[in-house]
Amino acid sequence: MKKGTFHSKETKQKMRETALKKGNKPPSRKGISISPSEEVRKKISITLTGHAVSLETRYKQRLAKLGKPISEEHRKNISIANKRDGIKPPIYYGENHPNWVGDKVGYGGLHSWIRKYLGTADTCEHCGRSGLKGRQIDWANKSQKYLRDLNDWLRLCKSCHRKYDLTYGIS
Ligand SMILES: [Zn+2]
Repeated sequence: MKKGTFHSKETKQKMRETALKKGNKPPSRKGISISPSEEVRKKISITLTGHAVSLETRYKQRLAKLGKPISEEHRKNISIANKRDGIKPPIYYGENHPNWVGDKVGYGGLHSWIRKYLGTADTCEHCGRSGLKGRQIDWANKSQKYLRDLNDWLRLCKSCHRKYDLTYGIS
């Protein structure tokens, strides 16, 4: 093909036909609109109609949801969820408090409970030493059952407590 020569009308038509057979899009040119085939038009129509209906339906569903009051069951579920998530928790005190462990109280918790009711002991009930502070004095348990009973506790200095624990086999 020489430079500057163009395809003949016939050649162009053949090229177009070949492209269409291959499934290629026909070349679009300014000013020339290629109208879609009947099949394509049908498909477009279905797509558009389907889309329009879908949008309208969705809008109606949204409106229905917005105006609909929540059911009793739904309300109950929300209430349960709120309680579970700690929203508006009921007021707890004493034995109703979830942290209340009663007689199953731990060693540390029991000691703080004793301190709360008997104060900080400063006199050893065994040797009579007084003015003991902090780690110099401790509470010893008589029954070894760590009862939530003030009579079950003995104020002992560190050395007496050690002897006491050794005597009773408390580690
Ligand atoms: Zn002592």
